[in-house]
Order: sequence, then structure tokens, then C-alpha cells
Amino acid sequence: MRKTVIAGNWKMNMTPSKTTEFIKALAPEVAAYNKADIVLCVPFVNIPAAVEAANGTNIAIGAENVHFEPKGAYTGEISAEMLVECGVKYAIVGHSERRQYFGETDETVNLRAKAAIASGLTAIICVGETLEMRESGITAEIVAIQTKKALAGISKEDLAKVIIAYEPVWAIGTGKVATTEQANEVCAIIRDVVAGLYDKASADELTIQYGGSMNAANAADLLAMSDVDGGLIGGASLKVADFTTIVKAAQ
Ligand code: PEP
Repeated sequence: MRKTVIAGNWKMNMTPSKTTEFIKALAPEVAAYNKADIVLCVPFVNIPAAVEAANGTNIAIGAENVHFEPKGAYTGEISAEMLVECGVKYAIVGHSERRQYFGETDETVNLRAKAAIASGLTAIICVGETLEMRESGITAEIVAIQTKKALAGISKEDLAKVIIAYEPVWAIGTGKVATTEQANEVCAIIRDVVAGLYDKASADELTIQYGGSMNAANAADLLAMSDVDGGLIGGASLKVADFTTIVKAAQ
């Protein structure tokens, strides 16, 4: 049985003190919900506060990015080892905002995913098409290429440390959500690609999330789909009540 994972992506929001406040409020609300793994991916400087506030709860902390080199002259970057030592368990890799604004490529996504996994982090690898790609009818090809390139050189055993988030770029932060059928269809395509790269059993075990304007109102329908194993949630993860509702919808 594959795991359902509900992960928040705070992007560039919240401060350390607001992080503590948020997690202290969220923890009791979600304490009884154990059918989904609950993750909050927070800005680097908020990580110590997040880890401390989440200590003893069922909330795990993730980072929003990770560098692929273990150390060195990479000003402004953060290594997997640094994250692990801070108590981080997950790292988002290849979010579309990083691909769009920070020059992230399929190659660097792959390097970051491998570095994360090698240090024991679970990599949440984001893939997804732009609106133009969808309208051109090449969604399946795009997510297949992104998935194959992201997973290059990752062993079948290490797939246990991978989550793939299907995030149609046109649905992120726009309020435009994919239909349940669109989300499920592409998550199933990704699973088929993974089955081709590894085998069906490995693909069946892989957690594939949907992300893109998932919120308290639409989460239950999206999460009920057969190939959607959780969500990567931006805006709605910044509100305790909304994020709680999404966690509950995953039960
Ligand atoms: C995201 O940041 O990954 C995301 C899906 O954002 P939103 O939920 O705000 O669309």
C-alpha cells in the first residue's frame, strides 16, 4: 500500500516566530489523523523553529530546495547534510517556480534529487506542463520526459525515498485547479512511466501527489482519485484551518 502524503509548500512566506505559532496551532488539530503523512516544507531560515515546534507531533518538516553538492563555493545554497542535521526529512526538488525563475533544469532537478536521497531525505520531485503545452496536447510527453530525466540514475531501492508531485504549472497559485479526471489521468501516466523505468510493483508503491490550487473545498474529491496519493499545497497550507481540512480529507 502506497503512502498518502499531504505536504505544504510555504514558498517565501512566514517568519520563524510565525512558524512556531502556526505549528503549535496545527499540531493538536491533526494529531489524531494518521492515514496520511503530514509535511510542512518551509523556508530555510524557518527550519529550526519548525523542527522544534513539530517535535513530538505527527508533522514532519521539509525544505523547499536542496543543493546537489555536499559543500563548497556555492554562495546562498544549502546542502542536504545541513538539512538533515537540522532535522529535515523531505526536500522539494524542481518546483515550477524554481524552474521558471531560477534556471532549474531537468538535469539540476536530477542532481538535487540524487543528493537529497543520498543523505536520507525524501525528495518531492515536481513535474508538470505549462498551459501552452497542455493546449498543444503534449502534456503526457512533457511529464514523461521530466519524470524520466528526474529519475535518471536513481535505483529501484532508492525509489522509496521519492515522491513525485504532478503540478500543472497553469494551476499553481492561480486558483485554476485541474479537474479530478485531469489530475488522475496525469498521475496515472507518471505511474506508467515509472513502471516502464523500474517495474509495476515499484510504480504501485510510489506516492504521486497532485498540486495546483488544492484547497479545503476541492481536496476530498482530488484525494479520492485512484492515482492521486496526496497533495502538495501552496496557498492553502498557510492557513491552519484549511490545511487541517485537507489533512482530514485524506483520511
Ligand atoms: C505549490 O506551491 O506547489 C502549489 C501547488 O501552490 P498552490 O497550492 O498555491 O497552487
